Amino acid sequence: MQDLKILGETSDLHEARWWEPEGNKKVHCYLCPRHCHIGEGQAGFCFIRANQGGKLYSLGYAHPAALQIDPIEKKPLNHFLPGTRVFSMGTAGCNMGCFFCQNWGISKSRADQARSAYVPPEDVVKLAIRNGCPSIAFTYNEPTIWGEYAIDIAQAAKEYGIKTVMVSNGYITREAFHDIYDHIDAANIDLKAFTEGFYGKITLTHLQPVLDTLVWLKNETDVWFEITNLIIPTLNDALSETRALAEWVLKNLGPDVPVHFTAFHPDFKLRDKPRTPPETLHAARAAAMEAGLHYVYEGNIYSGGAHTSCPACKKMLIRRSWHDVQENNLKNGCCPNCGLAIPGRWADGSAAARGLSRAAETAIEERYGDLNL
Ligand code: SF4
Repeated sequence: MQDLKILGETSDLHEARWWEPEGNKKVHCYLCPRHCHIGEGQAGFCFIRANQGGKLYSLGYAHPAALQIDPIEKKPLNHFLPGTRVFSMGTAGCNMGCFFCQNWGISKSRADQARSAYVPPEDVVKLAIRNGCPSIAFTYNEPTIWGEYAIDIAQAAKEYGIKTVMVSNGYITREAFHDIYDHIDAANIDLKAFTEGFYGKITLTHLQPVLDTLVWLKNETDVWFEITNLIIPTLNDALSETRALAEWVLKNLGPDVPVHFTAFHPDFKLRDKPRTPPETLHAARAAAMEAGLHYVYEGNIYSGGAHTSCPACKKMLIRRSWHDVQENNLKNGCCPNCGLAIPGRWADGSAAARGLSRAAETAIEERYGDLNL
């Protein structure tokens, strides 16, 4: 466990959920499958859940370390409010130990190392509205570890007609799964590889809990979800592995869950590996479509594999360039050529969103004007 300088007085900290006392002022956190047993004055593996005085506190609550407006396609989500902006936020810390992390500046920081602002849940929603975003994404680091904050934001967002998105590694326990995902509208889950060896050595976690999360999402929720598989040369780029992943998705989740194969760039502790060649992504996409998946995308490269086409008549439905939507031909969520219903959440959401009063806009402007979003 990590020694941590507790950031404030106990009364200022937000008590965590999903923990139990263990005696000797130790606590057991069961939010994610790590099941950290945390001594007093220490934090769990994720850095941002800390034991003070025999109670577990969520240090990320109301303290985002990153706030930004992104295209929804960057999450990546290609079948959820295409062409819209998403108010994106993350805190410090992470419950995985990925050697290739592309956001390691915050994911590997302790809460007291990452520069953060104080933004309570309702203000996050108001900032999203103020910036013309019909959705809010919990992203950049692993949002499960600040699930208390995500839930409160999602509840406030519903009152304003704003949607919420988890961009997650899927490493969550059964005990916490519904508590969080029952409030969420969409998710992108990283399926980082399809071997336990990769998960064990390169992410310091395990594969099976991530597969369990995907099955729970499919069978037990209405959350719209897509899958991302970042392909890293020599580590998870074997076509046999990609085929096995696609066959598992087909069998357990069905052909309509979109899968994104994305390109790696050298980062953090994996700077000795080359960028993923575009040919690798083309081959992975072809193999997954051959296995029977309907919506397979290539990401982090310029590619025709970013477009959405009708799986029945092959009509181009959404044309994209990187994260830009250049053309959207869907008619009420259906192919305009053959009428096939294309799975996803297509309404842009702006009609559902409630605006802010003039006074609320002014207050948000005064409080957060210097964030420069
Ligand atoms: S959420 Fe953090 S503290 Fe809790 S079990 Fe996972 S890594 Fe440990």
